[in-house]
Amino acid sequence: MTKRLFSGNMEGMKQSKLFTKTKKEAPTDEVSNNALFLIRGGFIHKEMAGVYSYLPFGLRVLKKIENIIREEMDKAGGQEILMPSMQPKENWEKTGRWESMTDLYKVSDSSGREVALGPTHEEIVVPILKNYISSYKDLPLALYQIQNKFRMELRAKSGMLRGREFIMKDMYSFHTTQEDFENFYNKMKIVYKTIFERAGIGHLTYLTFASGGTFSKYSHEFQTITSAGEDTIYIDEESSIAVNKEVFNEEVLQSLGLKKEKLVEHKAIEVGNIFDLKTKYSEPFDLSYVDEKGEKHTILMGCYGIGLSRLMGTVVEALADDKGIIWPESIAPFQVHLLSLGNDDGVLAESNNVYEKLLKNGIEVLFDDRVGLSAGEKFADSDLIGIPYRAVISLRSIKENGIELKKRTEEKGKVVSVDELIKLLKSSI
Ligand code: ATP
Ligand code: MG
Repeated sequence: MTKRLFSGNMEGMKQSKLFTKTKKEAPTDEVSNNALFLIRGGFIHKEMAGVYSYLPFGLRVLKKIENIIREEMDKAGGQEILMPSMQPKENWEKTGRWESMTDLYKVSDSSGREVALGPTHEEIVVPILKNYISSYKDLPLALYQIQNKFRMELRAKSGMLRGREFIMKDMYSFHTTQEDFENFYNKMKIVYKTIFERAGIGHLTYLTFASGGTFSKYSHEFQTITSAGEDTIYIDEESSIAVNKEVFNEEVLQSLGLKKEKLVEHKAIEVGNIFDLKTKYSEPFDLSYVDEKGEKHTILMGCYGIGLSRLMGTVVEALADDKGIIWPESIAPFQVHLLSLGNDDGVLAESNNVYEKLLKNGIEVLFDDRVGLSAGEKFADSDLIGIPYRAVISLRSIKENGIELKKRTEEKGKVVSVDELIKLLKSSI
C-alpha cells in the first residue's frame, strides 16, 4: 500500500471544489515543456524565473516522491534531520566557499549581518556532528534531509529542472576508513537505482561517470534521457553505464572498459549524483575521531543528492505526450480520474456512488463532477493532468452496466464493473 498522504478524507478531491483550474495557455515567458504542462494542469504556479509554488496536485506528487526517497534512505540506515536555509557566514568562510561558490545567495539584514541561503549543507552538517562524534565507536553514520535549496542559477529557463529555489534530498555519510566509505558508496548506487525505478524512470536513467573534481577520479551521476536535458552522455547499452561528455576521452573509456563504437549519444538530465568528499569539509572544521589506539584521524565523508523538484520535471519531460502529462502510478497525484459525463441527474448520482465506493476502499480519486462541460473538455483536462487511469460514467456506460476504463497510455478502453475497477486499482498499489 502507498502511504496515506493526508489524514481524513483527502484520498478524494472533487474538481468542482478545487480552487485551481486547468489553463489553455501558460505564462508567455515560460519555454520549458515540463513547466508549461505543470502550470497548465494546475500543479505549480510560477512566481519568477526558477521559483514556483506547489498547488494541490503538485504537492501530492512531491509528497509521493518524498515518501519513496525517505523510505529508501531510512532502509539504507540514514537518520533524517532538517537543517536551516539561513546559514552563518563564518561557516562558509571556513571552507572558502563564501568567496569561491559563484551561485551562493548572500543576504544581509539591517544590522549589516550577512548570511548565506543554503545551496547545500556541508557547512552546517559538519559543525553539528562535531558536537557528537569523537570516537571510532560513533561511526559510520549517515544523515539526510529533504529541504529547500537556493542557488543563483543564471539560466533558469528549464522550469522544474533548474530552480533558483528547489527541493533536494541531501545525504552526508561519515566514515573511519576508505574501505568503509566505498562499501557505503557502492550501496548507494543500488539505492539510487531503486529510487529511480520506483519513481517510474528507471528504464531511462543511467549510472554515469563524471569528473570527480579535486579528490577522486570520478563522481557518479544518475542521468535520465530526455531531449530537454542539458547534459550529453554516451551510453553503453550492454553494461547499462554511461559517460558524461565533459569527461569523455580515450583514457576514461579504457579505464572503464568501454568501446567507443558501441556508445550512443543522448541528451540527459542529472537527477541525482553521489560524491566522494574525502576530508574536504571535515578538515576545515577539524571533524575527527580517535581510533582504538587513541590516535586522532580526520573523518572521511561522502555526499548523495537528488533533486525532488527536478525529478518531478524530468518525469514530465521524459514521459509526456503531446496531450499532456503521463504520471507513473507510483507518483501520480491520484490513482484514478473519475469523470461524470453529461448533465443527466442519474449519471451524476451514479458517479457520486462510485466515488464514495472508491474512497471507502482507500483509493485516491480525482472526481470531475463539474456540470456544464463537454465530454471533449473533460477528456482534454484529463489527458493534461495525466492520472494513470480514467474512469468514465455516462448514460452509455450505465446502459452497459459499468464504467469505461482507459489507461492514460492507451487509445481504447473497456467497460468494467465497479467491483472490477476497485479490484484492479487495489492490486496496482
Ligand atoms: P547541475 O550540474 O545540474 O547544476 P549540480 O552538480 O550543481 O547539478 P548538485 O550540487 O550535486 O548538482 O546537487 C544534487 C542534485 O540536486 C542534482 O543531482 C540535481 O538533481 C539537483 N539540483 C541541482 N541543482 C538544481 C537546480 N538548480 N534545480 C533543481 N534541482 C537541482
Ligand atoms: Mg549546479
